[in-house]
Amino acid sequence: MPVRRWRTAVVGGVATATLLAGAAVAAPSSGAGTVGSEGAGDPYFPRAGNGGIDVVRYDLRLDYDPPSSPRRLVGRLDGVAVITLRTTQRLTRFDLDLRGLRAERVRVDGRLARFSHGRGELRIRPARTLPAGEVVEVRIAYGGRTGRPRDLGGALYGWVTTADGAMVASQPDGSSTWFPVSDHPTDKARFRFRVRVPEGLVAVANGLPVDRTTRRGHTAWSWHAADPMAPYLATVTVGNFRLDRYRDRSTGVLVVDAVDRDLPRSAAAGLAATGDMLDFFERRFGPYPFAAYGAIVDDDDLGYALETQTRSLFSGAAEEEVVAHELAHQWLGNHVSVERWADIWLNEGWATYATWLWAEHAHGRPARRAYDAVRAIPASDPFWHTVLADPGPRGLFDAPVYDRGAATLHALRTRLGDRDFLRLARLWVWRHGGGNAGTAVFQALAEEVSGTDLSGFFDAWVRTPRKPA
Ligand SMILES: [Zn+2]
Repeated sequence: MPVRRWRTAVVGGVATATLLAGAAVAAPSSGAGTVGSEGAGDPYFPRAGNGGIDVVRYDLRLDYDPPSSPRRLVGRLDGVAVITLRTTQRLTRFDLDLRGLRAERVRVDGRLARFSHGRGELRIRPARTLPAGEVVEVRIAYGGRTGRPRDLGGALYGWVTTADGAMVASQPDGSSTWFPVSDHPTDKARFRFRVRVPEGLVAVANGLPVDRTTRRGHTAWSWHAADPMAPYLATVTVGNFRLDRYRDRSTGVLVVDAVDRDLPRSAAAGLAATGDMLDFFERRFGPYPFAAYGAIVDDDDLGYALETQTRSLFSGAAEEEVVAHELAHQWLGNHVSVERWADIWLNEGWATYATWLWAEHAHGRPARRAYDAVRAIPASDPFWHTVLADPGPRGLFDAPVYDRGAATLHALRTRLGDRDFLRLARLWVWRHGGGNAGTAVFQALAEEVSGTDLSGFFDAWVRTPRKPA
């Protein structure tokens, strides 16, 4: 097995099943009356996302002071978030998610709004009742000290303060550690970033670089991410970066890479295959879906890589296999996103399977061999005890989500044949790109493409905590 540089295994399947039951009980009811609900209705993360609103755009203006000493990793972040949203119900109150930082002032369409803040929910009461279907601008001044937050499984995530800046990777619900947000993948939005950092440091975000201005010892970096994006895929990573910009010859995709100057050249060696991979994946999954691509390779270490949209984020080094994995996510995970976090195998299974396909294409290692290695795991091994389509909130990044997920897709390819399997992959991206879809929809599409009932197959591979026969 390769060294796992993306999200690592955290807990076994048995523990996660218990946790899931607990989380389901805490799920909120949908927004009643004129109060937007405090969550998007995802039982894994009941307070992530918000009801009654649909965010259209985030315009984030951030001022960041990195730690003054590497011995104490505490920074200072001050921001103004200008959030354009559409109301989906009549509202006297609605929430945004915000953790660890303090809201100082909230305006809705220019008028001061009352607000309270607790348990990660910023509750906003506009000066007037908002009718359903109205587009409003919410302006929030906020700030505070930044640290090194951790997710349910104990991994660093969100705004992770580093010695030379910050490394920001927010899957699944860490965006609320750095801006007020409707933090669920079903609420995609466009983003603009303007990030002011001490002169000499580089702030890298999603999308296209727009502008940079230096004044009185500070540089403001502007980036524009025009493609709809799930909030957890947003990043602002600050460090001592060298920016490399080029247009890939065969696909025409604009690539902007940011590699930490403190790393040896070899750390970015895996990026050399980016162009060939873009070409290879375009042939399998359809045109590259976004305005730009690129990588961030930081010398700080989260212990994993993340497919931040248009700009994959790597810890310490970008190894070829992980480069393929994160690039494949741009189609599978980022363009087509999960409906609920329980569907995570559709992201990780696809991205892992894409690396099997890449290894077959580039290095002559048959995907079948990787599949056989998974099949060789004994039925008694806890690996098979995860319900793939419901791994629990602490099991999102466990090994089965990746490897059983990829093996499921290989078994499906064997069942459907290469031609229908490829049609399924392309149709999945084409039909659900820009939006969200879950396991049931994927099964229905596979059945549509193949003209066969696949309920037995999907029950055995993704809904049963046992090794498939
Ligand atoms: Zn992944």
